[in-house]
Amino acid sequence: MTPHHRLRTVLVTGGCGFIGSHLIRHLLGSDPQVVVVNLDALTYAGIQERLAEVASAHASRYRFRHGDVCDDQLVERIFQEHGPDTVIHLAAESHVDRAISGPDRFMRTNVLGTMTLLKAAHSAWQGRTDVRFHQVSTDEVFGSLPSTGLFTESSPYRPSNPYSATKAAADHLVQAWHHTYGLPVTISYGTNTYGPQQCPEKLIPLAITRALAGQPIPLYGDGQHIRDWMYVDDHVRGIEAIVRTAETGGRFLVGSHQELTNRDLLERLCRVLDQQRPRHSGAKYRDLIVSAADRPGHDRRYASDTSHLRATLGWRAEVGIDEGLLRTVRWHVEQTGTEGDAVLK
Ligand code: NAD
Repeated sequence: MTPHHRLRTVLVTGGCGFIGSHLIRHLLGSDPQVVVVNLDALTYAGIQERLAEVASAHASRYRFRHGDVCDDQLVERIFQEHGPDTVIHLAAESHVDRAISGPDRFMRTNVLGTMTLLKAAHSAWQGRTDVRFHQVSTDEVFGSLPSTGLFTESSPYRPSNPYSATKAAADHLVQAWHHTYGLPVTISYGTNTYGPQQCPEKLIPLAITRALAGQPIPLYGDGQHIRDWMYVDDHVRGIEAIVRTAETGGRFLVGSHQELTNRDLLERLCRVLDQQRPRHSGAKYRDLIVSAADRPGHDRRYASDTSHLRATLGWRAEVGIDEGLLRTVRWHVEQTGTEGDAVLK
């Protein structure tokens, strides 16, 4: 694995979000040369406390800038004041249900925000080659798969909901800036990611929070929708490997080849909860699972072939689903008291 890009000052957007906060913790904790500037608007999904320990442990190498990726003057100022050589762009509206009920914010942040950053990077970097713009995308841009087959990097874009459509549009802008202006870019397409500190509206943290509160755990439709579940540390290491070592223009699927139906996933999760925090009544958490109306246009199956990333950069997912669920449940259990005490935020 030949390093192509040395990280010095990294502008992370959306660093107070779920994946961004794990990424910043990893970068600052593993490389003493790296300085991180975190630009985050602190929407409902952005929580500064996720980084409280990191901010104090690495105070000289961490800067927080509160603001919007669509604010071109602020973004230009950040380039002038901090001189980042690397952008890792995660800031996004990321929840599919919110995109269905209110797509406008998704268009603004995910599309216009990405263009604002691309313009600022192009203008600040002036043709430099020792720089890197990394776009954190999602496997959802490729749409829904039938029961067999896997997405590859040559799969056509077929986004089918307002969230994935705006992420796809952003990816096209990133590729356009590469082809038109020579901006050194890379793109990762991550699969469904989970782990500690995720917003409780997403499937796994929602299920755990409800279970610990003794409340019904909703399962969409027939529960047969299939996703490839990746532990957040694996996703973060995948992003890092691409940013540091991929050739410019590289595009990579990042996933863990752990396909599960939503029903299988929730049942596994309930078994981990049964072990870690048995219910007072002796009942099983599985009994709390209830059917909920399906999401409109719900994609049936996502699954990614990660052989390009494994063969080119030597990355592979290391955390199996049972270990990942155990770590996630333990984190939630530490945050809550006994059954019935958990609070739904
Ligand atoms: P998240 O919703 O937890 O965090 C998003 C962050 O972006 C928040 O801190 C929020 O405050 C910030 N943000 C939102 N709008 C902003 C704006 N206009 N300006 C500045 N900051 C803004 O998201 P996540 O789950 O951590 O996902 C991060 C990225 O990874 C997203 O781009 C998402 O599309 C992508 N992704 C997520 C997953 C997943 O399963 N979570 C999988 C693949 C790819």
